[in-house]
This record gives sequence, structure tokens and C-alpha cells, in this order.
Amino acid sequence: MTALRTTVAACMALLASCTALNPSQASEGKADVVLQNGKIYTADPTRSIAQAIAFNGNTIVAVGKDEDMAPLIGATTQTMDLQGKLVLPGMIDTHIHPIFGAVDRLKCSLAGVPARTDALKPVIQACLAKEPGGPDKWFEAVQLDNYGFSATALDLDSIESARPLVLEGNDGHTAWVNSRGLELVGIAVATPDPPGGKIVRDVSGTPTGSFIDNATALVLDKIPEPSVEERAALTAAELRNMSAYGLTSLMDAYVTPAEALVWRRLYDTGKLSMRVRTAIYVGDPSDDSDQSVARLIAASKAGDVDPDFLRAGVVKVFADGVMEYPAQTAALLSPYLDADGKPTNNVGKLYFDPLRFARLVARLDAAGIAVHVHAIGDRAVRESLDAFAFARKANGTTDNRHQIAHLQLVDPADFPRFKEFGVIADMQLEWAERDASLEAPTEPYLGPNRYRYLYPAGSLHAAGAMIVGGSDWDVSSYNPFRAMQHAVTRSERGMGHEPLNIDERIPIGTAIDAYTINAAFAMKQDATTGSLEVGKRADLVILDRDILSVDSETIEDTVVLDTYLDGCLVYSAMPGALWHEHDSCIAERLRRY
Ligand SMILES: [Zn+2]
Repeated sequence: MTALRTTVAACMALLASCTALNPSQASEGKADVVLQNGKIYTADPTRSIAQAIAFNGNTIVAVGKDEDMAPLIGATTQTMDLQGKLVLPGMIDTHIHPIFGAVDRLKCSLAGVPARTDALKPVIQACLAKEPGGPDKWFEAVQLDNYGFSATALDLDSIESARPLVLEGNDGHTAWVNSRGLELVGIAVATPDPPGGKIVRDVSGTPTGSFIDNATALVLDKIPEPSVEERAALTAAELRNMSAYGLTSLMDAYVTPAEALVWRRLYDTGKLSMRVRTAIYVGDPSDDSDQSVARLIAASKAGDVDPDFLRAGVVKVFADGVMEYPAQTAALLSPYLDADGKPTNNVGKLYFDPLRFARLVARLDAAGIAVHVHAIGDRAVRESLDAFAFARKANGTTDNRHQIAHLQLVDPADFPRFKEFGVIADMQLEWAERDASLEAPTEPYLGPNRYRYLYPAGSLHAAGAMIVGGSDWDVSSYNPFRAMQHAVTRSERGMGHEPLNIDERIPIGTAIDAYTINAAFAMKQDATTGSLEVGKRADLVILDRDILSVDSETIEDTVVLDTYLDGCLVYSAMPGALWHEHDSCIAERLRRY
């Protein structure tokens, strides 16, 4: 698309003073875009605030005062009066599942439906009526608010018995199937639990139809996925939507060869409107064999396609499951309590052999690969830190930027160990609030001494840990401003709940860092993104409010006015803005390499 039309879009974006001159008059040493009279939060080492910023092509060429910009304004330069608005570096989501989430939008949604068979029945039956099929055609219902939900295959038969039916929990770790489904997947008494998963059984050992963690793959892998083209098209649409929330980079936190193909397709077709890093799924985290290490290194190399837009270099491991009753597969240092506060025999489940996992981590660390661990319970966190300590001992200090994600419960003795071993705390801070789906299924089973350390962002920050933000969408929303609000207030607005462990709140500046410069560091792209400094890529967002000073209860309402990725305007909120006609800008960037 022409430079002139881009100019029109940029000008309409803010309805500000705007000069758009003849695009043929391009001149040396001038900027393409100059944003002035704003509040530019640079996220540079001193967290300085500037008034104006200029970029040329994909590169920031000046950050400073309005008057510094004059020499950069030429005949074709687009200038924009920000009218005091806040500009931040582009948002970076360090733990998200874009392809799964995009495909899930096609399925029957149970979001907001009470998790009881009688309430689910009419919703699922209405979906089934719209999508008829025979006894071999799977039917998937997703986003079940599964906390506290329990059902057997027979219960689900009362909803649908002829067709194989699967319900998937919104925690991404649980699934329930009806009797026809159980029959099709062929799971019986003799079927063993897979590594990192649990098949729920009755007293006789017979599977009840409920699957936890990796065991869900026994069912879900049997259901045909849409084609690569279809998944790519759905994901491309979702990436556009993410641009509207200011996201410019993300890490796909679970990538098998099938997802790697989708990302590659988006790249090859010029539709990758986001910087993406892919975390290759490890499979069995206790497999430290030569074969396993070689496979992961090869997959990582194959995933490194473009240093700016599509990289790998990370692997994903599950250390445990989820903490909420009744699953309780998160690994704890001391047992879960029963509903009356008495200790049980259950300490959850660690999904690896600690020594073999530590050896795997050390070998990957030596090969320059970062390890991203899902760890929910305090024992899973401890064992993961132990593995990183083992790697440090074996290899000395490396620069791989290993991460532990989720961190629902961390023992205070482990807070300083994040800094000690350079392990990054990847937190989903939207979850840090007392809602019914958290409180009832966890508080009584942990007791007050442990519950006080739920999502301990403040303690980790105080102990010097680097905190980064990830949404885990589609477990929760990918609006980074909602996560920032919860990080600061530790509560869901308007629910009338007490904040969750208010001492664990973090300052708004730290929350912004978690989605910008710290996230860029975790993604190992801080040399080019994460802050607004001369020479870095022009990834930035213009916001409708100053989240550094507004009432913290309104941060989540932030409207992104414009999103620039690599100097391309990839989103504008202004009515009539033509940003969506400028796909060619990113497509051209992708062809540069
Ligand atoms: Zn995840």
C-alpha cells in the first residue's frame, strides 16, 4: 500500500495535527514518523520519560524533546501531536497459546455456564443441534469453568450418548468424556497413566471418563484438528485482535511440530503480524537420553526462522498440574488439607524424576536452550529451582534466561533463589485475585499459612527476582492492562472481595516492566525491543490514559489507540483508520530476510 495512505491512517489515528506531504519527496536523514507532545515511557535503564520519539523504517532514530525532532521532519514525515498521551514500548506476552485459543473459538463455549451437568446440558445440546454428526464424529465443548466440577462418563451420557462428547476445562488441564468417547479412545483398566498425567479411576481401577494434565492428550490427540491452512487463518485473525491490546511480541508456550508448521505458514505467507518465540514441548521431562536432547536441539534449530519475527530456542516442561480441588495435581512440599483443615496423604504429583530432569536441564542449558517450566505447587517450584542450580553447577553461568511460569505457591525459602540462579518469574497476574474459582477450591485445602503466599509477586520482586507477564490465554484474557490492574490491586473490580494477599502487590512501574523490558529480556530480544531507545525496533503503543497516574481501578479499561510493530501501524482504534489495509507493511518486513 502507498506511503500516502499509511500517512492518512496515522493522521486519522489521533485526530491530531498532522502533515502528510507528497510521498515521492523522500529525503535522506529524515524520519518516517515523529510523535510529539507526549509522555514517552521509554523503559530504558533509568526509566526516563521523554516528550517525543521518531522512527525511520523499523528503527527508532530519536527519543527526546519536541525541539530535538525538528531536523528529522522532512517532506514525507508523518508528524502527530500526542496531546500528552502515554506511549509505551509494545506489549510482550511471555506465556500464551495463540493457536489453541484461536481454534477453540470455533468450538462450543461453556464460558460462564455453571459447572453442573443440569446447567451444561441445554447449552451443549443447543450447540449439538447446530453441528450434527454420527457416532464417530467427536463433539468438543470448551472453556468449562471446571473448578469443583466432577462428572462421570455416565453423567455426560445424560447430555449426549450416541456421539463422542468431550468437555474441556478452562484451566487447560482437564477433560471429561462420555461412554461413547471412552469406547473410541480405547482406554480401559489396564491403560497406564502417561508421564505427567492422570486417568481418574473408580475403586475398581476402571477409568471414570475424567482425565487430568497429560492424560487429556489420550483423548484430545484422537480428535482431528483443522488443517494447517485453517489454523493459520484463525491464528492470523487472532493476532490482529492481539494488536488491538497492544501486543507486539509473544511466546507460544506449547509448540509441537503441528503448531510449528502453523507459525511457519504464517511467516511464509507474510501474515505473522507479531514477533513470535516458540517453546518446543519436551514430552517426557524425565527423558534425558541423547535421543531426546538431540530431538529438542533439532526442533529448536528448525524453529529459528527469522531473528526478528520467528525464533525458537526455548523448551516447555510441565513440573506438575493444577492446585484446585478436586484435581489437586500440583506438587506440594506438605500435604493438601481436607475440607475440615486436616492433613491428607495427598502431596500432588511431580511430573518428573528430579535427577533425570536436572540432567536434561543441564544438557539443554549447555546447548544454549532456555527451559520454561510450568510449576504451580511449592514442591514443583523447589524442584525446578534445584534443576537450574544443578545446571549452574555443571555449566557455570550461561545466558539462557530460564523461566518458571505460574508460581501459584512458592515457599518463602525459595524467593531469593530466583535471583541467585538467574531464573525469571513468569507470572499470570490476572489470576491474583480472590474470585470464587480460586478461593473455594484452594483456600481450605492449603490453610492460611500457605494461602498467604499465593501468587507472591511482591515477595519475589522484593527478593530481586525478575518478574515477567504472560496471559496464558485462552485460560484468561490477553488484555495486559487487566493483568496489570490485578498486579497492582490484587482484586477484581466491583466484586466486593477482599484483595488477595495485598502485601504481594507490585508497583505499576514494575507491572509495566513485566510486559516490556523484562519480557523482552526473557524472550532474549532485549537488544532490539522492550524499550524505546535509539537503534531499537519501533514497537510501541499509544494509550488513551496515563496508567502511571490514573486510578488503579481503571487500568484495565485502557484503550490502545495505535499499535506500531517494526515501524508499521498494525492497529488503530480511530474510526475510519485504514490500518487494516496496510498488511503489506508487515509482509514487506517479513520478506526482508
Ligand atoms: Zn500455558
